[in-house]
Amino acid sequence: MSRKSKGWHDREWVDPDEIIRDLPPSNHTPASSGFTNASVGQSYLVHPRCSHTGVEVVFSLTQTDHPPLTFGGATGWTLEPWAADVILDCGHVFPSKPEKFVTDGPKDWLDLNKLVVPTSTVVRFDWPDQKAPGVGLSFWRKAVDVLTQTLPKGGHIIACCIGGHGRTGTCLASILISHSTRTATSAIDFIREVHCTHAIESKAQEDYLERLAAARDARLASQDKKP
Ligand SMILES: [Zn+2]
Repeated sequence: MSRKSKGWHDREWVDPDEIIRDLPPSNHTPASSGFTNASVGQSYLVHPRCSHTGVEVVFSLTQTDHPPLTFGGATGWTLEPWAADVILDCGHVFPSKPEKFVTDGPKDWLDLNKLVVPTSTVVRFDWPDQKAPGVGLSFWRKAVDVLTQTLPKGGHIIACCIGGHGRTGTCLASILISHSTRTATSAIDFIREVHCTHAIESKAQEDYLERLAAARDARLASQDKKP
């Protein structure tokens, strides 16, 4: 696999600058302007013109000899779970204990829950709205390692939160920065261009991505010093 970008020197990963865009950027469809997340008892403002499903590929990561991992971003209430192998829930969109499909009824019916197969793996992050996550570069590097190991045939990963912009955009940008040589500004611009102009919502999130890119640069510099 070629590595076109100047300065790319990660030995394991193909430069994500060679982005695969399987689908065009989403066309926003009308949605309601308010959404109440019952699980945390708070109301959030959802941009009135956005309802991201997560189906669209924002970027992909391809490791040598491993099928691609593709990434999308979703608004919590319009997320399409069937489209994801793994869902990175950054906004308490999913309950901590999955609800049964048959929630009430005679035993014969409740027993049918054994036949319900989850369509995707849900991983929940404790990540307050508008804030930066409490994790660093090594977390995002290891997280992608885990995805690679658990998805040997490749797969689609959807990051989501309530609106699909702040935490979702920051999560996507964090994965992009930790596996590329993009600057924080370049990664943010890219996510805003391909996913949504509203992605990455706060200065705390932008500052976090700057720190992440600096940590990544330090890691690459230390790699270069090794014989
Ligand atoms: Zn949007």
